[in-house]
Amino acid sequence: MDPAKRASVGARSEVPDDAQLEEQVNDWLRYGEDLGLGPFYRDRAPLHAIAESAAAPVATSSGISPAVPAAMAAAAASRAPATSINVAASALKKSSASIILPASAPSLFEAIERIAGDTLPRIREDIGDCTRCKLHKGRTKIVFGTGNPNADLMFVGEGPGRDEDLSGEPFVGRAGKLLTDMIKAMGLQREDVYIANVVKCRPPENRLPEKDEITTCSPYLMRQIDTIKPKVICTLGSCSAQTLLQTAQGISKLRGEWFDFRGTKLMPTYHPAYLLRNPAAKPEVWKDLQKVMAVLGLQPKKR
Ligand code: URA
Repeated sequence: MDPAKRASVGARSEVPDDAQLEEQVNDWLRYGEDLGLGPFYRDRAPLHAIAESAAAPVATSSGISPAVPAAMAAAAASRAPATSINVAASALKKSSASIILPASAPSLFEAIERIAGDTLPRIREDIGDCTRCKLHKGRTKIVFGTGNPNADLMFVGEGPGRDEDLSGEPFVGRAGKLLTDMIKAMGLQREDVYIANVVKCRPPENRLPEKDEITTCSPYLMRQIDTIKPKVICTLGSCSAQTLLQTAQGISKLRGEWFDFRGTKLMPTYHPAYLLRNPAAKPEVWKDLQKVMAVLGLQPKKR
């Protein structure tokens, strides 16, 4: 682009007509192309696509893997061939509101605002005698969560079973007893940690929570996490890992890797109920818990 012309871009004092505006935008876009900025603007997913979609984490063998919006991957997969300058110019001209500036967009949960001054009692109060999803029809008690409200470590399961539904406490059945043993093996007591679930009412026949139930209930879990501010979240089983990381990736791929959840380290591991059926997987879970212990500076319980 002619430097003299470039210098004049944007320097016009009169209100430009459509043709001038188009020329002006084209000049800017050519300038951007000259600077190599084209791919930067082309390769970003629109914000609405990110907000509408789940995110897929990328596990790496080293360090923490950020949750990457699946919409970005989808957008990349369906990316149109290099957008022509004229198409971009006319899009810009149509709506300046469509100009998207942040280079990276937040994941769905990162986009959820933190509620200043939120507390666990307030969250419980907001849940109330909930009828927001169909799970309320079969429940006896809402299982909100229990433990230390200032815990460094938070466990997240999928949803209450029969024993939990009757008692109103998470992880009190057979799987819960195993979880308690796991916590003790880490040198902690149940009262030291916080335990919650993705859904707060028992799914019928202990089936997995369904998408609409998770969507309805998980914002309360997010608020619990934001309020407790644990140093580490340990998700138990596929449902909680997939919900918090917004991925469809299986638990056997996710477990043992560190992920980032809104600035908090997250370690997925197998669900204790799975360990009851597959005790051979216990050493893998112990390895995952040892990673958690290393971060929290915990020593294993002396036998
Ligand atoms: N399984 C879970 O995921 N949560 C509980 O509270 C009990 C069993």
